[in-house]
Amino acid sequence: MTIDYQLIIQELNPITIIQEAEKIKQLSLDYYYFSPILEPKLKEKTADLVVIPTTEEEVLKIAQICVKYKIPLTVRGAGTGNYGQCIPLNGGIVLDMSELRKIKWIKSGIACVEAGIKMSVLERETKKQGWELRMIPSTYKIATLGGFIGGGSGGIGSINYGQLKDRGNLHRVRVVTLENEPRIIELRGDETRQINHAYGTNGIITELEIPLAPSYNWVDVIVTFQDFISALKFGQDLADSDGINKKLISIHAKPISNYFTSLKSYLPNGEDCALLMIEENSLFALEDLVKEYQGEITYRQDLDLKSNFNLIEFTWNHTTFHARNIDANITYLQTFFFSLEKVEEMYNYFGDEVMMHIEFLRVGGKAIPAGLQLVKYTNETRLNEIIKYHEDNGAFIANPHTYILEDGGRKIIEPEQLNFKKKVDPYGLINQGKMRSWDIDN
Ligand SMILES: Cc1cc2nc3c(=O)[nH]c(=O)nc-3n(C[C@H](O)[C@H](O)[C@H](O)COP(=O)(O)OP(=O)(O)OC[C@H]3O[C@@H](n4cnc5c(N)ncnc54)[C@H](O)[C@@H]3O)c2cc1C
Repeated sequence: MTIDYQLIIQELNPITIIQEAEKIKQLSLDYYYFSPILEPKLKEKTADLVVIPTTEEEVLKIAQICVKYKIPLTVRGAGTGNYGQCIPLNGGIVLDMSELRKIKWIKSGIACVEAGIKMSVLERETKKQGWELRMIPSTYKIATLGGFIGGGSGGIGSINYGQLKDRGNLHRVRVVTLENEPRIIELRGDETRQINHAYGTNGIITELEIPLAPSYNWVDVIVTFQDFISALKFGQDLADSDGINKKLISIHAKPISNYFTSLKSYLPNGEDCALLMIEENSLFALEDLVKEYQGEITYRQDLDLKSNFNLIEFTWNHTTFHARNIDANITYLQTFFFSLEKVEEMYNYFGDEVMMHIEFLRVGGKAIPAGLQLVKYTNETRLNEIIKYHEDNGAFIANPHTYILEDGGRKIIEPEQLNFKKKVDPYGLINQGKMRSWDIDN
């Protein structure tokens, strides 16, 4: 059925609509191009219209129109995802959630917000009451909370609170459905797993209730080491040091720090290093630990008041961002190693072809090293060989070179998420082509 978008525009009135082709194109894409595999597959994809609701009622109205005319609908937060999660594969409407951004309330360590709120904006407000977000992606300045739940996994703070999918990290959501009669449903506790990290394939999240963490004065610190293995062991020891309050442990092997041009004064020779966020009262204990590993603190934010960078923006996938700014042939992997020995094995095996970047995070109560390694890309066959070698040798890869939900970190069909989609999106209109289990069934 061809869709008459002039008619749709009339029906959507008075909701804000973007019709300029250039702007639509821009709002149809994300950071998919970090992957040389996704880049050619997605670069031409674009929506027919971008619609920007400001209230939940408007979202409901858009859902009704999409169901009535069977229009594909793709939800977008800030479009900072890396796997084309918010890129429409079959045109239709991109639903830009960025104007649905009210803070409903913040109290006793919980915040209730609309899904399009930027995490930095929310945290500015929670801090006034002595609270901060439990975890944030390195894109927190622009990324939305709804997009983090829909497409993210964890980040700065995950060393203390694990990943977004872990029980307790999301209390409640309101979701607009695309049933014959679209409606709003609420999911609480374990029920939220149905939409958590589902790439927006099974409902439009309009409101979220999240638990917060006590707010601290965090200090950015850079430590250099004589070799990568010392930096790695230091990272694990710091992660396991329960008495040292930290929010970020990001470890980089040579020559990664050469890509951090604005940190050059602290990392002049591309040193093996750790980028850290440590609570101010834990700094003296950190100094002792650094000594034990013969490291050198080259930067402390509290002592260098002239510096104007934010260390967060060199960690997690911002590391890839900086490397690609220097060498666009660099891509990346996402790897769970579970032991330092496995990291060391891969570090020695691949050398500079797979540059080791580790973030420590808590998984099942234990601090583990997770890799966001930088890969010098040559061709798809070689990239797949690298992935296979990791998998054959006991490392788990959450493949960032696919937009299919089940082929990324999940590896399996999530019956909970598929069944929820069957219920709330019976026509398969939301984010088409991203959930393989739905496509197989239909
Ligand atoms: C340089 C860089 C660094 C990054 N660092 C991290 C990191 O540290 N940790 C991390 O987890 N990720 C990271 N990412 C990925 C991404 O930035 C985050 O996951 C971010 O939280 C996504 O938010 P967004 O608002 O941009 O979402 P979008 O990219 O707009 O959307 C992400 C997914 O969620 C869906 N979605 C968005 N809003 C809704 C909604 N209201 N209801 C239902 N579905 C919705 C979309 O359809 C899409 O599938 C990074 C990306 C880049 C480019």
